[in-house]
Amino acid sequence: MRLWWWIKQTTASSPVDTRSTDTQLNYASATITSSFWNAGVEAGLTGNQIMQLAGIFGWDIDFALDIRGGDKFEVLYEEQFVEGEHVGSGEILAASFTNQGETFTAIRAESGKYYDENGRAMRKAFLRSPLSFRYVSSNFNPRRLHPVTGKVKAHRGTDYVAPVGTPIWAAGDGVVQKSGYNKYNGNYVFIRHTSTYITKYLHLTKRYVKTGQRVKQGQTIGTLGGTGRVTGPHLHYEFLVNGVHRNPRTVKLPQSKSLQGREKQEFISLAQSRLEQMQKMGMLWAALGPVLNKS
Ligand SMILES: [Zn+2]
Repeated sequence: MRLWWWIKQTTASSPVDTRSTDTQLNYASATITSSFWNAGVEAGLTGNQIMQLAGIFGWDIDFALDIRGGDKFEVLYEEQFVEGEHVGSGEILAASFTNQGETFTAIRAESGKYYDENGRAMRKAFLRSPLSFRYVSSNFNPRRLHPVTGKVKAHRGTDYVAPVGTPIWAAGDGVVQKSGYNKYNGNYVFIRHTSTYITKYLHLTKRYVKTGQRVKQGQTIGTLGGTGRVTGPHLHYEFLVNGVHRNPRTVKLPQSKSLQGREKQEFISLAQSRLEQMQKMGMLWAALGPVLNKS
């Protein structure tokens, strides 16, 4: 279903191509029943946009393990047309995501970065999960058995079950404290982020980083595997705060940076108008959806 909201018309600046490009706003929303991916597809989003959406909220929500039936999202995004022909989906301008009852909102600033409605950066020091949700097989089973012990039991890390070779990302910027192998951990990488935080990634097939190397958030540091003491391939991920193991999905993480001064004021008014647009289109969508679906 498509519902267009025509906003502006711009003329291509190229002297060769004088056809005009229309930028229109489109809206999508869905409530998740089977998986986030399926809900995104059913809402009419492209694969790219679904990944983009997971990227925007990936510092607050673990898309691999924390998505539940009943979670929902809405998205306001641009689409480009040349002479009425759809030529591409553009940026996500605003979005909200409700995960297990908690709602997160993001709006795109002129800079291309995303902030919440109060001007706080969506980007934070740590990703909630160090791999793409697309590979993880257990989206809806929080009581999954532990791949080593076969018991439902909390232990000192989070296990992500995904295919061998799945890229594993550094959760935050840091320095590789140790990249090595032993018979328990298999191939492992430990990253020191500040004097406070260490993240650990175990049972990798391959390691792409060396001890002492500086790494960036989101950089692929290795691939998921089944090396060391495991019964099946998975990533065992640990998050340590001042040497103490914490649940990486619930631990309080460092505050993100906020916009300041005039930049903040300008952003907040942009954010308000974007959120109003999204809300209006949501209401239209709700009212017209049944009609459009019939045609
Ligand atoms: Zn484990």
